[in-house]
Amino acid sequence: MRSLIDITDLTRDEIDEMMAVAADIINRPEEYSDKCKGKKIATLFFEPSTRTRLSFEAAMYELGGNVLSVASESLSSVAKGESVSDTVRVISSYADIIAMRSAKEGAAFVAADSARVPVINAGDGGHCHPTQTLADLFTIYREKGTFDGLTVGFCGDLKYGRTVHSLIAALSRYKNVKITLISPAELKLPDYVKTGVIKKAGMVYTETDDFEKSLPELDIIYMTRIQRERFEDRAEYERLKDSYILTAEKMRSAKKDACVLHPLPRVNEISVKVDADPRACYFKQVENGKYMRMALILKLLEESKDPVKEDLLKGQEIVVGKTGCGNPRCISQTERELEKLFKAVDEGSKVYRCVYCEKRAETPQVFRHYEIKPKK
Ligand SMILES: [Zn+2]
Repeated sequence: MRSLIDITDLTRDEIDEMMAVAADIINRPEEYSDKCKGKKIATLFFEPSTRTRLSFEAAMYELGGNVLSVASESLSSVAKGESVSDTVRVISSYADIIAMRSAKEGAAFVAADSARVPVINAGDGGHCHPTQTLADLFTIYREKGTFDGLTVGFCGDLKYGRTVHSLIAALSRYKNVKITLISPAELKLPDYVKTGVIKKAGMVYTETDDFEKSLPELDIIYMTRIQRERFEDRAEYERLKDSYILTAEKMRSAKKDACVLHPLPRVNEISVKVDADPRACYFKQVENGKYMRMALILKLLEESKDPVKEDLLKGQEIVVGKTGCGNPRCISQTERELEKLFKAVDEGSKVYRCVYCEKRAETPQVFRHYEIKPKK
């Protein structure tokens, strides 16, 4: 049995297989309409995200299963101070699989570690949102038939956009994918993604702040939201905001078979006039997300027939710190009884990341008093 916390928990082959299943569901929906008969998914949404929750619920219904839904933290026992671990232990008695969303980074890890059923991370703060990446990949695959040789342009907030980081990580496992990073200097892709993912995989990439100049070369145009609050300088925001809006006029210079994606919700980064353009694929992305969630639910339920749980920390060098990771959004900051665990980024490296939220441990006192756990 295993859970899905991060897109890289799945191998490329597994994602390819899931895309084949999703395509088969589209072609032969009746073959799948009672695959999950008698099974229940619990959708625990401690942070509201109606669209993602409904996607999971529609996916389960279309597989013939049932849904138990918690759509607000204030309605649940978590508001009374119950830990995520206790909550999912209880829910494990009612549901066969859990999809969980939380504002706390690392909540999905804690849930997966405690639950007796598979847990799907439906978004944990700014950390991961793997089923969005599955939707993105399947949309590219359906539109293009391949990833080989594509030039994928990411535009907007590349610094905080978790969907961008995850999609780059997923694409890095395919051959010949070129990346174009288009953002203002304030919102550039973080170095750890550039070094740890793009350069490590040997991907060809370019970085620019000029959207219009890059546009004609892109096969995939992945737009993201630029949030005003990300800028320290208001004037800088005012100057830049319009240059990253995709308009019908700009689409004239895009490739005839380009494909425009957006993780939604959009604010104004894509003009509504683009919606009628056949190259606009962001609403198809929503539908594709549902099919990939169906494929994922089928896969994890199948694997859960083996009750032996995958050890989330297996084979990793783990350090127990005396203090936490310092990320105020990390679950280890609110659930104090959690052990302060850190993992080595690479074998033997002295760079550690919080096991829960994966933020780099910057605080030196973390390692002043620590113990190394024996490897499992
Ligand atoms: Zn943390």
